[in-house]
Amino acid sequence: MRVSISTLGCPKNVVDSERLVRSLLSRGVPVVDDPRAADILVVNTCGFIRDAKEESIGEVLRLAEIKNSSGAKRLVVIGCLAERYREELIKEIPEIDVIWGVGKEGEVVEYCEQLAKGRGQESRDGEGAARGTLNSSYAYLKIAEGCDKRCTFCVIPSIRGRFRSFKPDVILSEAEQHIKNGIREIILIAQDITSYGKGLKGYNLLSLLRDLTSLSGEFYIRLLYLYPTGIKDELIGFIATNDRILKYLDIPLQHSEDRILRLMGRSGTKRAYRDLLRRLRQDIPDIALRTTFIVGFPTETEEEFKHLIDFIEEIGFDRLGVFKYSREEGTYAGRLKGHIPEKVKQRRYDEIMRRQALISLTKNRELIGRRFRAIIDGVDRGVAIARLYSHAPEVDGVVVIEDKQRAIKTGDLVDVEIVEADVYDLKAVLVDPSP
Ligand code: SF4
Repeated sequence: MRVSISTLGCPKNVVDSERLVRSLLSRGVPVVDDPRAADILVVNTCGFIRDAKEESIGEVLRLAEIKNSSGAKRLVVIGCLAERYREELIKEIPEIDVIWGVGKEGEVVEYCEQLAKGRGQESRDGEGAARGTLNSSYAYLKIAEGCDKRCTFCVIPSIRGRFRSFKPDVILSEAEQHIKNGIREIILIAQDITSYGKGLKGYNLLSLLRDLTSLSGEFYIRLLYLYPTGIKDELIGFIATNDRILKYLDIPLQHSEDRILRLMGRSGTKRAYRDLLRRLRQDIPDIALRTTFIVGFPTETEEEFKHLIDFIEEIGFDRLGVFKYSREEGTYAGRLKGHIPEKVKQRRYDEIMRRQALISLTKNRELIGRRFRAIIDGVDRGVAIARLYSHAPEVDGVVVIEDKQRAIKTGDLVDVEIVEADVYDLKAVLVDPSP
């Protein structure tokens, strides 16, 4: 009895799926990549914005077809979309056998194990095909669940519930396990990692970072999703001086204009954001800053959009993601008057992407001739795909290294010199480690 797991959405879902894979493997239930080769098809869905929902529904329908075309398979749907649209999904897609929301990995494992036991001998058939999802150079480490912020466009708090910090000993032992498995980059995530420590007496993100960076082994830590007003001086000081923490921060700002920020329910102002970003650049030389913005929020005027573009050009973010505002049921923003037509949202989105491409190209070209430490994510016929500290996996560019001489492999840390650059990716050659 083999299980396949399709994962949609953000890294937080990736973490949940990886945890599920580990639990299944530890109970002797094989996990395979190809749903056609599996008996239980699990899909971990995302319900964040319209595009993500459509993608998740598309995947559920694809798996339903596979189930229909080849006999006795089971279809299990979990995750945010399942939490939010349970009734509708059950009604519209009769192929679904079981549906659970978020945080139900335990139930899924139990279900798969029960089915596997019911099928006896078959449960061992797929062992050779068990996939190596854990054989990677990096791993996400979720440190909390839920969110207590009330951003008016966001459904996450109503899906994932209140913010709950995970216990430090659980996080530390998961990190130790990753290091033991050869993981070189541990990526801390939560809806907002700066809130970490809520509910734990006298322990916060800084305490966790101190403990994590004291673990032994050769590894780095990357920090994703910091709420801008949650970044305090002490934290900046620690990031600046600790070699284990990659000089890269993902700080979703969502907008630059005070009126829109207030309507979004976000704390902070353009001035405060500008001061924070300047301070980070001043205290942490070479820091790579990533952010995300939403365009076409209800009532966003042409002028406010232009100010946002000016802000983006002024700061010159190293990495930038843009979302078109998506009207979500049950949100305050969804009920606002003054929704922006899709055509206008698309134009604003395209405009930012075009401007950011130029910023990114200029910044990438400035790297030519410079040397960096890179982490190897994969190698195929002498071509390695690697990343610098300034590249988070899956969302940023990569570094391509051609080298047939040395036997580099996934997880290696190598020294490289950048030789070519385009908008997103870089090309590099291996160089001897600096003395
Ligand atoms: S911080 Fe805001 S956008 Fe992020 S999950 Fe919480 S409510 Fe949503």
